[in-house]
Formats: sequence, structure tokens, C-alpha cells
Amino acid sequence: RDLAVRATSLPGHPSPGVLVVLHDISELRRLESLRHQFVANVSHELKTPLASIKAYAETLRGGAINDQENNLRFVSRIEEQAERLNQLIVDMLHIARVEAGEEAFDITQVGLRSVVDSSVTQYAQSAKQKRIQLVVEPPSHRAIVVADEDGLRTVLDNLLSNAVKYTPEDGTVTIRWRSDAGRCILEVQDTGIGIAEEHQTRIFERFYRVDEARSRDLGGTGLGLSIVKHLCLAFDGTVELESVRGQGTTFRVYLPAAVS
Ligand code: ADP
Repeated sequence: RDLAVRATSLPGHPSPGVLVVLHDISELRRLESLRHQFVANVSHELKTPLASIKAYAETLRGGAINDQENNLRFVSRIEEQAERLNQLIVDMLHIARVEAGEEAFDITQVGLRSVVDSSVTQYAQSAKQKRIQLVVEPPSHRAIVVADEDGLRTVLDNLLSNAVKYTPEDGTVTIRWRSDAGRCILEVQDTGIGIAEEHQTRIFERFYRVDEARSRDLGGTGLGLSIVKHLCLAFDGTVELESVRGQGTTFRVYLPAAVS
């Protein structure tokens, strides 16, 4: 442990004395180092798309603007990278608000079915392009959870989008839920690339990716699972995963069930 020692003479004490104050600064050091790491990560993440935007703009200015075959392609790249920057900023602000307890949640009773259906509709197209089957297992009951509906949709969207992203063609993504001891347990299971054990504990950290280049190419910001974790905690729930590399991953979200 790191201890900061402060020696103070005692004012007004009849005999010359010393008061020794011990502060545990190891926790402060840890927080400070996390903060540094976060700022470094943010800078790196913002610089990458910015550098691409600059490079494409310079190429256009340097003559490519007259190249009828490629100039629109370069403009599209600029737009993609600008969108990436936008997504990063939106995600970072979202995490900051949730963490600071400043996100205004409307905690109500939410039917899981409709949230699952809207998320499935959103990712149906990208799943179809990879011939991935999106399966919603028929639930044994109508689950109602206590959460913020938009937040819950964000949780599902992130899990489903990852499941489709990290599952190769012809795979399957299954969504199912059940109730147990006053909680609702929602699972998103895929037959994708899986996550090796050494990465599993770190996967919910901001910007942590197993394969940085691959995730970036797939449009990931590295913030999705961190948002999922924070939202689940804000709803008095939790999230965990089970995964075997090369075989697939199951994310399991536990949420308080509404009392019927
Ligand atoms: P990203 O935007 O990079 O997808 P996330 O925070 O959503 O960021 O996920 C962090 C990392 O966890 C991903 O980069 C990927 O390496 C890994 N990951 C997330 N979901 C899955 C999954 N279903 N299968 C395999 N790997 C996954």
C-alpha cells in the first residue's frame, strides 16, 4: 500500500509533540492512472478518424478532385470517418452522463417482447447480408421488467449488433428470456468468433477490444459494452458473459422483473 505520511506539530500542545497522519493514496493513484489512460485513449480514438479526414481532403485538393472515377469515393470516406467521430462523441457523452447519474431515466414497466422485436427489426438487414439467422425463442411467459425503455433498447441494440458483427456468415444469433427469483434473464447467444478467457474480464472496459483493427473496420467504437454495463447497473441489474473462442458467445442480462 502507498501511504502518504504527514507530520504536524500539535498547536497549543504543552509538550512538543508530533501528529502523524497516514493517508492511503494507493486508491488515489489508481484513479489518477485510470484518468490518464482514459484521456490517452480518447485522444487516440479521436485522432485516427481525424487523420483520415485530413488525408482524404488533402488528396482531393492535390488533384483527385478532378478524378471523376474516384473523387466521390473519397468524399464518402470523409463522410464515414466524420460519422465515426460523431458516434464516438455521442457514446462518450452517453457514458459520462450515465456514470455521473445525470442521465434522466424514465423507469417504468417495460415489456421485453416489444423491445426485442424492434431491435431484431433493426439488425435484420445486416444479419441477412451475412445469411445469419436471427432467432427469437418463444418465451414461456410475457416478461415485464423494470427499466428505462430507451436504455433497455440501447442494451439490446449493442448486444445484437455485436452478435451479428462478430459472427461469420451462415451463423445463428438467438435471443431468449426467462424469469427466476424476481429477475428476468435475457440472453443473446451467437455462434461467432468467441472471446478468449484472458479478454473476458476486460471486455466491458471503455475502448477495450480483442482485435482493435478488426473492430474498427467493423465500425466499432469500443464503447458499446461499457455502455451496456453502465445501463444495466443503473437499472439495478447486471450483465455477464460466457464464451468459447471459435465457438460463440452468450451475453446474459439480469434485470428486476415487475411484480405482477
Ligand atoms: P466494439 O465497438 O469494438 O464492438 P464493444 O464495447 O461493443 O466495442 O465490444 C468490445 C469488444 O468485445 C469488441 O471489440 C470485440 O472484440 C468483443 N466482442 C463484443 N461482443 C462480441 C461477440 N458477440 N463476439 C465476439 N467478440 C465480441
